[in-house]
Amino acid sequence: MAMKDVVIVGGGVVGVACARALAQRGAKVTVLERDLIGHGCSFGNAGWLTPSQATPLANPTMLLKSFRWMFDPESPLYIQPRLDPAYLRWLAGFLLSSRKAKFERGAEALIELCRVSVDLWEELAGRSSVPFGYARAGLLAVFEKQASLEAARGSIDLVARCGVRADRWTSDEVRDREPAIVGAQVGGYFFPDDAQCEPYPAVRALAAEAEAEGVTFVEGVEVFGISDGASGAKVLRTTRGEIQADRLVVATGPWSEEFGKMLGVRLPVLGAKGYSLLLPRADPHPKRSIYLIERKVAVNPHDDALRIAGTLELVRNDFSINQRRVDVILRGAKGMLNLGDPPVVQHTWRGLRPCTPDGMPLIGRARGRGDVWLATGHQMTGLKTATGTGLLLAQLMAGETPSFDPEPFRADRY
Ligand SMILES: Cc1cc2nc3c(=O)[nH]c(=O)nc-3n(C[C@H](O)[C@H](O)[C@H](O)COP(=O)(O)OP(=O)(O)OC[C@H]3O[C@@H](n4cnc5c(N)ncnc54)[C@H](O)[C@@H]3O)c2cc1C
Repeated sequence: MAMKDVVIVGGGVVGVACARALAQRGAKVTVLERDLIGHGCSFGNAGWLTPSQATPLANPTMLLKSFRWMFDPESPLYIQPRLDPAYLRWLAGFLLSSRKAKFERGAEALIELCRVSVDLWEELAGRSSVPFGYARAGLLAVFEKQASLEAARGSIDLVARCGVRADRWTSDEVRDREPAIVGAQVGGYFFPDDAQCEPYPAVRALAAEAEAEGVTFVEGVEVFGISDGASGAKVLRTTRGEIQADRLVVATGPWSEEFGKMLGVRLPVLGAKGYSLLLPRADPHPKRSIYLIERKVAVNPHDDALRIAGTLELVRNDFSINQRRVDVILRGAKGMLNLGDPPVVQHTWRGLRPCTPDGMPLIGRARGRGDVWLATGHQMTGLKTATGTGLLLAQLMAGETPSFDPEPFRADRY
């Protein structure tokens, strides 16, 4: 039986970021990944590193809309009706967390975590030999209806209170400064501090640095059972034999609920499916990331391709592709950008966002389980908050004073 200092289960962007931060503090770290590193939800997400969009999923506006959208097969947010007690309990928690005050407290903490993380991503981009398309080119939110542009004022004020700058652009300014927008629009908000990258290369860059710090990555090994070993250590039963962990970090993303059962810990993390499509460069190609507000489509211009992403389906772990919803994303982008006729989709990808009921990640020590730590439940923000998550978790595990308040992310709150 191999002896490890820290074993991290899950090699997504969050697990890899934790591994690197722990190794930097001298821990001997092994990451166990049942598939390939970075091939879960971290593989094809929109690639946004945007504090302006780092708010909890559970929010008062979305709540009202979600009921209206429940029976619309083409809606951007879909809550699957089902009578599963754990699912209903999750939904009840989601409803309670959608209160304005709770949402705003969560948003403030997430935005701070995101701002720290983007700075860390930027530092990595500056020194890494693995390019990952990092650019702080800003994000442009484009509005097609005057009413939505005015209604956005509240969320702009909220993010501004957290230090996120926003400039309002008139319709003419949008046309002049971002010629890629060819559809009718009434104006936008530009967030100059937001950044973007290519999601999978970003995981690779982080993993390369972690490896250089001494982290061992083991792919193709699944953990399927856990028991208590001698002197508080955990014995992990894996598809490649038993491994003993002095300290265990759970970074299993959307599969965390199942993983929690092995530990006897309730981890209410639900999968929320979304899609991203890769297309050739648009003509004109966007200069920066774009959010098509009413269509709920995220656009990220890579050097050699265009990525568009959208929809959020609370479906637990249903991994099927719903072509109708994929078509809605493509149609949505096509209405505002010149994608060619017909657009050529080079790759359709779907992923499950790991969502907690209150939309806040779980970062810290698990309830009553000794040296078991959690870094999961990052919903729509896992990439943009990964490096800060790694920092916070490593600081907590090392007994250091955290750089920011860990309270909103407490891992024992469920
Ligand atoms: C369409 C879409 C767009 C998105 N856009 C953005 C964006 O622009 N910016 C952003 O910040 N976030 C975005 N997200 C969210 C982001 O992708 C996730 O929050 C993030 O990838 C979660 O990372 P993770 O490491 O927690 O999970 P994952 O990347 O899913 O990693 C978990 C890993 O654990 C492994 N695992 C699970 N169980 C076991 C086991 N028993 N044994 C061994 N290994 C196991 C899995 O194989 C997997 O590789 C988007 C998501 C989607 C779906």
